[in-house]
Amino acid sequence: MAATDSDPAVTTSTCAHCHREIPSSNIALHSVHCARNLQKCEHCGDMVPRKLMDEHYDENHAPVNCSLCKRSVERELWDLHTGIQCPQRMLACQYCEFELPAIDLFEHQDVCGNRTEYCQICRKYIRLREWIGHELQFHTNSNAATELSSDRTMLEEERAPVAAAEHPVRPTAHASHRTQLLLTIAITGIAVIIGSILYQKKG
Ligand SMILES: [Zn+2]
Ligand SMILES: [Zn+2]
Ligand SMILES: [Zn+2]
Ligand SMILES: [Zn+2]
Ligand SMILES: [Zn+2]
Repeated sequence: MAATDSDPAVTTSTCAHCHREIPSSNIALHSVHCARNLQKCEHCGDMVPRKLMDEHYDENHAPVNCSLCKRSVERELWDLHTGIQCPQRMLACQYCEFELPAIDLFEHQDVCGNRTEYCQICRKYIRLREWIGHELQFHTNSNAATELSSDRTMLEEERAPVAAAEHPVRPTAHASHRTQLLLTIAITGIAVIIGSILYQKKG
């Protein structure tokens, strides 16, 4: 297998075993060695040196140990496992969005979905598991309108006090600025006067 592809002018032949280009002068010898040393991987079809086959298998095809559920998972099924099969994968509760292992989720959601929330429109308590159905059934059309109008009243309620509050705030802020400025001028003036009095006394 040594001294193969050094000179580009050398004519080559394709090895029937590994399908690589081998200098024609070496092809006979190579074929023997190749057949003896390289092995076709039964999992991916790659030509792998026989002595590296275990390594190749471990790196590419060996089952993976899931750190969450401690199970050994076929490499081909790994994505499926982490995505939808691992019982310890973390999922969010559809009602409270708390994350917990998939295996505990069913039981948790059973309890969590039994909690109730007060429907302002119907004035009664609705189970969380029935909430979406309730909204669809009773409030799909009217709900949009109610939401809009409640938004509007909220905005108006908010806008009015803010507008009212903004006006008294500004003059106060201005006034305090002005007072501060006047105070500074006054203090400076007094300091100058005191200074000049002291100066005159000394003189
Ligand atoms: Zn070969
Ligand atoms: Zn392979
Ligand atoms: Zn797992
Ligand atoms: Zn929950
Ligand atoms: Zn309702």
